[in-house]
Amino acid sequence: MYAVKANPSPDLVRILWDNGVTHYDVASIGEVRMVRAVLPEAELCFMHPVKTARAVREAYFTHGVRTFSLDTLEELTKVVEATTDENGDPADDLRLLVRLRVSSEHSELSLAAKFGVDLVDAAPLLQATRQHCDALGICFHVGSQAMTPFAYVQALERVRAAIAEAAVTVDIVDVGGGFPSSYPGMEPPPLEDYFALIHRHFEALPISYSAELWGEPGRALCAEYSSIIVKVEKRRGDELFINDGAYGALFDAAHVAWRFPVRALEDDLTQPLAEFAFYGPTCDDADYMKGPFLLPEDIQSGDYIEIGMLGAYGAAMKTGFNGFGAVEASVVDDEPMASLYLGRKDERMSDNVVSLR
Ligand SMILES: *Cc1c(COP(=O)(O)O)cnc(C)c1O
Repeated sequence: MYAVKANPSPDLVRILWDNGVTHYDVASIGEVRMVRAVLPEAELCFMHPVKTARAVREAYFTHGVRTFSLDTLEELTKVVEATTDENGDPADDLRLLVRLRVSSEHSELSLAAKFGVDLVDAAPLLQATRQHCDALGICFHVGSQAMTPFAYVQALERVRAAIAEAAVTVDIVDVGGGFPSSYPGMEPPPLEDYFALIHRHFEALPISYSAELWGEPGRALCAEYSSIIVKVEKRRGDELFINDGAYGALFDAAHVAWRFPVRALEDDLTQPLAEFAFYGPTCDDADYMKGPFLLPEDIQSGDYIEIGMLGAYGAAMKTGFNGFGAVEASVVDDEPMASLYLGRKDERMSDNVVSLR
């Protein structure tokens, strides 16, 4: 699956579909409608554990969604009722995934606090869910930008404990998102290491022979998709005032001090690299990105900067606050500023990604 929230661009969704991604993790009825409009044949999986009954009903009856996640008995009841037809017949084709709370300790961005049933409460929920579905799954999310594959090993150990305790047949194990991309100061191990460990631990779970292994990568599939080009409007010492920021595509640079790769686009800058912080365009002090971002020492007002690896959680976070945020999109064919795919030994993988771009 591709986790649509990481970048809901219809163009990107179409590119992923053309390159073989058939399943989409959607979290709201807005995402359901968008992907359905672009990809009439895609399989949509509604993986937000807290949905409105109205959204579930529309997803099921209008858009053909059969897969839902949940982490409470209330949500199970809601999904079952919302998918019951007007004659009172309950759906017999639901794939229901119980979201298990797992640790985010190996990830740069935690997703451990908000969703997921605790292991101690998982067994009764799994047993109750089994009664209402055609296929039962367990899903989790180790947090975004998981810097070691052992995050998944730990989570799969928790899945094992939940299955053993509940003694139910599990048809799907969904390891969620969290697969990393490459940023300055955050260079993760190759994705193949993640896949190899996950496969090995999945094979050892007490699940049916035909059980399916699913994943929901967002960031790893789209981080390399786009850059943004910004203009330096003013320089004050080692601070650059640029025309995008916390309320634009640089939310993570401001709010969690994410360091995106940068490069100056001027040919006439000759000085060595120095460390800079950025201010965004709005009148808010919080519109500040401490970086450090490495740029030529002689950069000045009027110069342009490429900020790379903004395909994931970049454009997706933009607002129109303070009247800023107009962008012009261009399709380019140069390589991303960092890549987990290009220049790898696995030629087949590189080929796929080249055609994807
Ligand atoms: C955000 C999210 C994802 C994608 O996470 P990444 O870290 O971008 O891979 C996948 N599944 C769920 C349920 C999510 O909330």
